[in-house]
Amino acid sequence: MAGKMKCFVMQGVGKVGFTEKPIPEPGPNDAIIKTTHALVCTSDVHTVKGAIGDRNNLTLGHEAVGMVYEIGDQVRSIKKGDTVAVNAITPCYKCENCLRGFTSQCTQMLGGWKFANIKDGTFAEYFHVNDAEANLAPIPKGVSPEAAVYTCDMMSTGFMGAEFANIPLGGSVAVFALGPVGLMAAVGAKLKGAGLIIGVDGMINRLELAKKLGVDIIVNFKEADPMNKIMDLTDGQGVDSAIECLGGQATFESCIKATRPGGTISVTGYFGEGEYVNIPRMEWGVGMSDKVIRTGLCPGGKERMKRLLRLIKTGKVDPTPLTTHKFPFEQVDKALHLMETKEDGIIKPLITF
Ligand code: ZN
Repeated sequence: MAGKMKCFVMQGVGKVGFTEKPIPEPGPNDAIIKTTHALVCTSDVHTVKGAIGDRNNLTLGHEAVGMVYEIGDQVRSIKKGDTVAVNAITPCYKCENCLRGFTSQCTQMLGGWKFANIKDGTFAEYFHVNDAEANLAPIPKGVSPEAAVYTCDMMSTGFMGAEFANIPLGGSVAVFALGPVGLMAAVGAKLKGAGLIIGVDGMINRLELAKKLGVDIIVNFKEADPMNKIMDLTDGQGVDSAIECLGGQATFESCIKATRPGGTISVTGYFGEGEYVNIPRMEWGVGMSDKVIRTGLCPGGKERMKRLLRLIKTGKVDPTPLTTHKFPFEQVDKALHLMETKEDGIIKPLITF
């Protein structure tokens, strides 16, 4: 009989708690990971508030690294004891959407997101990974698990924001909202060769960290009008690319307004409210501005993870300054609460097991 493990679960909308479940068993192509480090995501807060509907006894969490504990009998490239990072998105690489190249939309829209959505997540002593050959990325020597865990979502999603923003070499980029994803989007923009990165937020601690991570100009929207500032900095032209990292009407609108004709608006945020998202008609060029709006969900899979880990290994990216708080697994509820209130200068809480 399988042993038991401790899990942190959603017990219903607005309700969380610890429970015990049996350690999962792998199917032929799967793996079981013994969790060592995890990060709490604002998405976990959204989930608990009912973003994906009611869930009972669903283990939360989707950002984690650990050690391979068990593998299915068809898994060849990974062995027990390997330390691995697993992306928040675990595509099957067999369905039509995966074969079309849209792996985050595996099987159906947003279907690549399985952890703490359609199956138990990673806030547990062990977690199950589907299609292990495609989704387990060994953590290279010289990369700490505390850094590697940022590849699971924050680096992958943030960098996607920059990759989808079609940034010309030396071009100008505005990043709206500098939470962990926005900060990583700014770092991604730098990697993509942006010549001017403008970061907009209302929280001093985030703006200061943005500056340290390479944002050229920080704009506190509580003190200055970001649009005036952006137009000033770009000779009234607007930026080549704007990256939306909140999931709000105001930030989305600002992205459309801040972007020059032919520019790209790259959306990483989760839009959790209202039936529609409105587009400012005039700044959209009454539908004829050559502006592109590109959406996406955290790209997963081992190949991408290997590249993200390589950026850490070669010193091109260090995501660890985002870790402002650390908690043992027994206090993950406290970390989740802080992510909700955004108190105490929190950017990202690291959970150790
Ligand atoms: Zn996340």
